[in-house]
Amino acid sequence: MNRTKAYSAASSTSPLTLDAIQRRTPTERDVQIEILFCGICHSDLHTVRNEWSSIMPTVYPCVPGHEIVGRVTRIGTKVTRFKTGDLVGVGCLVDSDHTCPNCKDGLEQLCPNQTLTFNSPDKHLGGVTYGGYSERIVVDEHFVLRVPVNLNLPGVAPLLCAGITTYSPMRRWGDIKGKKVGVVGLGGLGHMGVKFARAFGAKVVVFTTSPDKKEDALRLGAHEVVISRNGDEMQKHAGSFDFILDTVAADHDINAYINLLGRDGNITLVGAPEKPLAVSAFALLFGRRSLSGSIIGGIPETQEMLDFCGEHNITADVEVIPIQKVNEAYERMVKSDVKYRFSIDMASLKSEYNQQSKQ
Ligand code: NAP
Ligand code: ZN
Repeated sequence: MNRTKAYSAASSTSPLTLDAIQRRTPTERDVQIEILFCGICHSDLHTVRNEWSSIMPTVYPCVPGHEIVGRVTRIGTKVTRFKTGDLVGVGCLVDSDHTCPNCKDGLEQLCPNQTLTFNSPDKHLGGVTYGGYSERIVVDEHFVLRVPVNLNLPGVAPLLCAGITTYSPMRRWGDIKGKKVGVVGLGGLGHMGVKFARAFGAKVVVFTTSPDKKEDALRLGAHEVVISRNGDEMQKHAGSFDFILDTVAADHDINAYINLLGRDGNITLVGAPEKPLAVSAFALLFGRRSLSGSIIGGIPETQEMLDFCGEHNITADVEVIPIQKVNEAYERMVKSDVKYRFSIDMASLKSEYNQQSKQ
C-alpha cells in the first residue's frame, strides 16, 4: 500500500480539500501511474454533490476524476502491454468481470459487474474506488490506454471521458459523412462532439443557450449555430436532422429537439440530468423518430478514439488550473462558464504542503 495525496469531498455540501488516500501495491497485472493531468467532467460534480443519489449514491469521502493522463512508474510481473515511462490514460472504468457477453464484445462499459474509476466498490482495498484528483493510481492493465505522443497532454485528459462519450454514439449511428448532425450544449462533451462530427464529415449544427459561445462553436467546426432559447431559430430546422447528440447536464425540453429530427432521425442522450425528462410520444411517433442513450465506450473503442485523435491532431480545448482552484471551477461549470474543459495540472497537488503526507 502507499499513501497518496488527493482532493476529496467529505459530504455533498463540502468543498474538495486536500486528503490522503491509500493506493494498493501493484498486483501482477497492475500498472501504477503518476498522474500528470485530470479533466473535470460534469459527472464529477454530479457525484460529489450526490445528484445521482437515486441511481448511484455517493460514498464519502469522494475523490472524483476519470479523465486521467499520466506516466507509468511501476508495473506488475505479468504486465505485457506497458513499461515504465509510457504515456497512458485511464477513463471511467478500472475493472469489469471480463467474462460476460458485453466484456467479450469489448463493451466493458455495459458490464453489470464493472468497477468505475471512482465511487464504485473497491475489490482490492474495500470501501470505494478513488479517482484521478490524486497523485497516482493503480489500474489493471486491461483498462489502461496508450496515449499518442504527438498530442498536447492537458487536452488529452478529457478525451478519456468527454472524447469517447461523443465519439462512440456517432460511430454507432453509422456513416455520418454528409448527414445533418446537431450537438446540443457546448460544454466539455459538446465541444468534443463538434470536433468529431466535423472530422467525420457531417454538416454540424450547434445548439447553445450561451450566445457568447457562437464564435467558438464556428471555430471548433460547426457550420451553423442556433441559440436554442430562440423559438424562431429553432423552428427553421424543424424535421431536418439525421442525428442529434444531446449533452445537456440539466433539465431541458427534449421535445424541442425531437421535433427537429427528420424521418427515422435519432436523438441520443449522453447528458445525465438529475431528474427524468418528459418525452412527448407524438413527437416520436410522427416521423418514426427514436430516442436513445449511450454511455462512454468500451476499451477497444476508447483506444481507437485516441488513435484517431493522434492521427487527426484532435484534443480538447482546455483551461489548465491548479487543483487548489477546483471548487471555483465547479461553480463556473454549473454556470456553463468553461471553455471547454478544465484540466487539472497535478504538479499543483504534488507541491501542496501536506502535514498528513509527512507522517
Ligand atoms: P458541461 O461541460 O457542464 O456542459 C454541459 C452544457 O450543457 C453546458 O456547457 C451548456 O451548454 C448546456 N447546459 C447546461 N445547463 C443547461 C440548461 N439548463 N439548459 C440547456 N443547456 C444547458 O458538462 P459535460 O461534462 O459536458 O457533461 C454533460 C452531461 O453529460 C453531464 O450530465 C454529465 O454527467 C454527462 N456525462 C455523460 C456521460 C456518458 O457516458 N453518457 C459521460 C460523461 C458525462 P451551452 O452553454 O452551450 O448551452
Ligand atoms: Zn466523465
